[in-house]
Amino acid sequence: MGKPTGFVEFKREKQPYRPIAERTRDWRQVMLPWPVDTLQKQGARCMDCGVPFCHEGCPLGNIIPDWNDLVYRNRWRGASDRLHATNNFPEFTGTLCPAPCEGSCVLGINDDPVTIRAIELAIVDHAFEQGWVKPEPPLIRTGKKVVVVGSGPAGLAAAQQLNRAGHWVTVFERDDRIGGLLRYGIPEFKMEKGVLDRRLDLLRKEGIRFEVNANVGVNVPTEELHREFDAILLAGGATVPRDLKVPGRELRGIHFAMEYLTLQNRRCQGELIPDEAFITAKGKRVVIIGGGDTGADCLGTVHRQGAISVHQFEILPRPPDTRGPDNPWPQWPILLRTYAAHEEGGIRDYSISTTRFSGRDGRVERLHGVRVEVVSDGNGRRTMREIPGSEFEMDADLVLLAMGFLGPERDGMLGQLGVKLTERGNVWRDEHWMTSVPGVFTAGDMQRGQSLIVWAIAEGRQAAKGIDTSLMGSTNLP
Ligand SMILES: Cc1cc2nc3c(=O)[nH]c(=O)nc-3n(C[C@H](O)[C@H](O)[C@H](O)COP(=O)(O)OP(=O)(O)OC[C@H]3O[C@@H](n4cnc5c(N)ncnc54)[C@H](O)[C@@H]3O)c2cc1C
Ligand code: SF4
Repeated sequence: MGKPTGFVEFKREKQPYRPIAERTRDWRQVMLPWPVDTLQKQGARCMDCGVPFCHEGCPLGNIIPDWNDLVYRNRWRGASDRLHATNNFPEFTGTLCPAPCEGSCVLGINDDPVTIRAIELAIVDHAFEQGWVKPEPPLIRTGKKVVVVGSGPAGLAAAQQLNRAGHWVTVFERDDRIGGLLRYGIPEFKMEKGVLDRRLDLLRKEGIRFEVNANVGVNVPTEELHREFDAILLAGGATVPRDLKVPGRELRGIHFAMEYLTLQNRRCQGELIPDEAFITAKGKRVVIIGGGDTGADCLGTVHRQGAISVHQFEILPRPPDTRGPDNPWPQWPILLRTYAAHEEGGIRDYSISTTRFSGRDGRVERLHGVRVEVVSDGNGRRTMREIPGSEFEMDADLVLLAMGFLGPERDGMLGQLGVKLTERGNVWRDEHWMTSVPGVFTAGDMQRGQSLIVWAIAEGRQAAKGIDTSLMGSTNLP
């Protein structure tokens, strides 16, 4: 423990962001780095708990108290080694993770938790600046060949671990670029693509092969995977969006969030997309349906494109500002989350159900909604009831549906491989991460449902252990 009185002396500080007026005029990352002395004080707040609950909260089991202490003591090399020991891509989680570790930090019982995520990012940024993060190709090759389907964080983490174990790894990605949701879902202003490309460059130098436009089950037959590779990892994500099946849904101007975000991400990367194929909020009255993280990413994009107005509607009630009695520490705190995009503008409203859309000449012009309340159905289940007389309508030229995801695509690859699914429609796996088909493994959102980057990385690592054990009889992978 660096400074025994640190948590008494120093308060948690707020992440610095670029000024709103400046950042909404471009697509660059909004988060600013913290000055080193501020970070060291934040690291000094860590109490080095006998039972560090932050470990419990982190799916990767990051050795958090160690790096907090090392940062406080200005020992960045040691901090970077500790960080990379459990996390393949700390720059992704350091930038994008909602930090479940902070939700379970012991300091959070009666004070603000340690700024674990910001410290993580500072360590990895420092390590890149110093040239400490280098390709680590294996010394010996096993001769075994593994294919990873999907290049999101789960597939990338598994590929790196399997390559380090000495196997030849090929990643098949159906998109034209590598990265999964890090590439085409998450907007530039949250994490610039250069951060992803820097890591991909290292993975290539370590010997991992990437094949883009390789859609397994469509232009790459599943038999080829069985024929060419000793093990197969399915890391294709949970990409089926939840739809809003109300009258008027077919009108033009109503889009899934991922259709919208992907196009802007492509433009940000320099692709020439003609206006008629692009979805823009410029000069429009926009409604985003869904109050979660994907909705917030749409909101930030809408601001930058220059909308006239934007509303974000959520069907659930507004979350509380502080933990409720039924949500005690160290559980993940269910709180109202205000992201950078919310600070930039727009109106958030809760307990709203959209009942229909109306328009003219096949284009949406109005959204019709009603306020709802949560009631018990008499059997202990909670259900939504419309509040009589609360019906309303409003102008809307662009509607973005950001209501979550229903799991992986079941046709194509999964259907052809014949893997068993869970009741929720995700890919079933055993405790070694193997599906019902021998030699075929799975990790990430494909088996968990839409989740978080930190879970995807953690599961990619675990699945790599399962694959290595099945190929070699035992594993030394962490
Ligand atoms: C808009 C948005 C914003 C998000 N923001 C955050 C955030 O800020 N922080 C956070 O922690 N999480 C965030 N998430 C969630 C996070 O991105 C995912 O949980 C994570 O990316 C899952 O990783 P994955 O590797 O399992 O799958 P994905 O990242 O979904 O990658 C799967 C890849 O598999 C490819 N694929 C699928 N089928 C095939 C096939 N048959 N052949 C070849 N390739 C295939 C897909 O094209 C895709 O590239 C966000 C999600 C969305 C939608
Ligand atoms: S729980 Fe919080 S205070 Fe305790 S070791 Fe982890 S980061 Fe430090």
